[in-house]
Amino acid sequence: MIPYVSLSGQTNDWQSQLSNLITDPKELLAIAEIPTDSREYHAIEQACADFQLRVPRAFADKIEKGNANDPLLLQVLPSAQELLASPGYSTDPLGEEAANPIPGLIHKYESRVLVTLSGQCAINCRYCFRRHFPYAENRLTRDHLQEITAYVANNTALNEVILSGGDPLSVSNTQIRRFLSELASIQHITRIRFHTRLPVVIPERIDQTLLDTFSNSRQKIIIVVHTNHPNELDERFDRAMAQLTNNRVTLLNQTVLLKNINDNPETLTKLSERLFSAGVMPYYLHLLDKVVGATHFEIPEHDAIGLHRALQTQLPGFLVPKLVREIAGKSSKTWVY
Ligand SMILES: *Cc1c(COP(=O)(O)O)cnc(C)c1O
Ligand code: SF4
Repeated sequence: MIPYVSLSGQTNDWQSQLSNLITDPKELLAIAEIPTDSREYHAIEQACADFQLRVPRAFADKIEKGNANDPLLLQVLPSAQELLASPGYSTDPLGEEAANPIPGLIHKYESRVLVTLSGQCAINCRYCFRRHFPYAENRLTRDHLQEITAYVANNTALNEVILSGGDPLSVSNTQIRRFLSELASIQHITRIRFHTRLPVVIPERIDQTLLDTFSNSRQKIIIVVHTNHPNELDERFDRAMAQLTNNRVTLLNQTVLLKNINDNPETLTKLSERLFSAGVMPYYLHLLDKVVGATHFEIPEHDAIGLHRALQTQLPGFLVPKLVREIAGKSSKTWVY
């Protein structure tokens, strides 16, 4: 894959991009050419203390200069609104701690389990429902991995293992290969699914070693990328998706419906069309999970349904994502209507 060349002229493989993220809000604002007064800046720093700022440079380069309402900037820039009291919002809205039998494993649905392979992400999305999840206590050790493999092997109702996080592709190829080879011998597991934002924000992550690992897998590999706005996608993404398709990986996308970012039919229609042209099928359009600090991203359910109906008139049925929300304690995601 052709490496990313940043605006500053540096050529970067994925490891260097991942270890050279923007973490200082001042730097992000300078790149985006947004002036900020010091009172506002104080709130930004407070919000960062709660949930760190992390932004890949290639993502920051796509923010429109001087536009404080840029849809990419709004996804990553901490805001004073995160500090507002939020009745009805929780630090664990999905009840994940209760469904966490082994550190690193979340088992909520009958046929599939979720393994949090990594606590880290390449990008910290301010609306993320995992922003308060106790990752430190859920770090995967070798012992836990063995326990998880045993749990999966002993539970024949399972047919799919979902690798999530954090971002499961933020770990090394060696770690991924090791885990997949453990799962390879479990006959009832037929699919392995990655929920990841890395191929969107650092497409160079789809390197040859990873592609070889996928094409050698006995189980079907599915990658569910996470994109919220067509401006996030570029030719680097297209190349990465084409390489995955060539290696028989099934590609899906999930989007979170976010106020002032993608809450209009034109943006979502364009996103579906753009994804399809890259070989990715829209899967879910999520209503926001009510996590503390994310109230300002919420779209009322009634408006979401109106938006979703508009998508149906503009897109073929196969490009309309399912509108869902997650309700703690349910045996699947809940279709909104
Ligand atoms: C969302 C989720 C899944 C996957 O649900 P699908 O409807 O199969 O995409 C599995 N486990 C957990 C804990 C989840 O939150
Ligand atoms: S990449 Fe996914 S898990 Fe990570 S912060 Fe963003 S939404 Fe959350």
